[in-house]
Amino acid sequence: MNLKDSKGSEKSVICEGSATMECVSKRQYCEPCHYVDEKTEKEPTGFCIECTEHLCSECCRDHKKNKITRQHVLLEGDKIPKDPAPFLQMKAMTKCAKHPDRVVDFECVDHCTLICSLCLSRDHRHCGTFNDLSADNKGLKLDCESLSESIKAVAETVRAKIEQKEKSLKELEEKKAEINKACDQYVKSVLTQIDKINNDVKSKAKHIIMNEKRTVEENISKCANFKQEIERLQKLMNVSQKYGKEYEKAATLKYLREQSKRLEADLQAAKAQVPNTCPVTAQSTLAHLTSLCKITSNCSEDLDIMMGTQVLS
Ligand SMILES: [Zn+2]
Ligand SMILES: [Zn+2]
Ligand SMILES: [Zn+2]
Ligand SMILES: [Zn+2]
Repeated sequence: MNLKDSKGSEKSVICEGSATMECVSKRQYCEPCHYVDEKTEKEPTGFCIECTEHLCSECCRDHKKNKITRQHVLLEGDKIPKDPAPFLQMKAMTKCAKHPDRVVDFECVDHCTLICSLCLSRDHRHCGTFNDLSADNKGLKLDCESLSESIKAVAETVRAKIEQKEKSLKELEEKKAEINKACDQYVKSVLTQIDKINNDVKSKAKHIIMNEKRTVEENISKCANFKQEIERLQKLMNVSQKYGKEYEKAATLKYLREQSKRLEADLQAAKAQVPNTCPVTAQSTLAHLTSLCKITSNCSEDLDIMMGTQVLS
């Protein structure tokens, strides 16, 4: 039962401790003066270890005057604690769990608990072993030293852990930058490639169009020749009709018939040569370009695949 009590009291000490920890950042002022008038927040010039209170210069003087508080140890100047929490925790720890107005005097070894003299006489009369907490204990100093060493070791472990975590944080940042760089580089190379393919396709289309243009131009010049030839024949016909003798008319007509036949044949041949539509269009060129630069969408569902490959590599 007592063991449970002792655990219970320990728990309350921790709670009180953490509660005071929250007050650390608060501005410090003379607590007795603030107690008398809530609006008063006088600058403290001392801290009483026994009362665990900050005191102004007047209250410090009163503390020293008063017979009851005269023996209290006052910390002044630089020694005033910025954080009174450890003092409060120490006070809370030495309070008797059963009698809060008393401090603990003994450790009952049987119950493994700290007790006041009242507890000793009432509840622990039949217990066997006690440690007098006020007695000069040489082992305590050694215990403190070894505890201090182990706390130091724990602090070192924690420091190394934090350092390691900070390192991994940095590594993650670096990894992010690396990924971004790799992706950007890839996209840049793809864009360059697409640009090159685009230029190639355009150049090929241009080449086809140029060939077509040349054919059309050749045709135009052929047509001009036809036109010229027709004009020549028409003129010849007019002259023979107007001024030719009968034998001249007959010879010219024969000649004209032959030439007209030849012209018709040439015209038919020229028609067969020229295709009516150009073999390349914007649509066909674009279809060719898109087939060369196939891009698949990158959905967020693909993230699993990305993670998978990362694990494998
Ligand atoms: Zn005091
Ligand atoms: Zn004061
Ligand atoms: Zn007690
Ligand atoms: Zn006991």
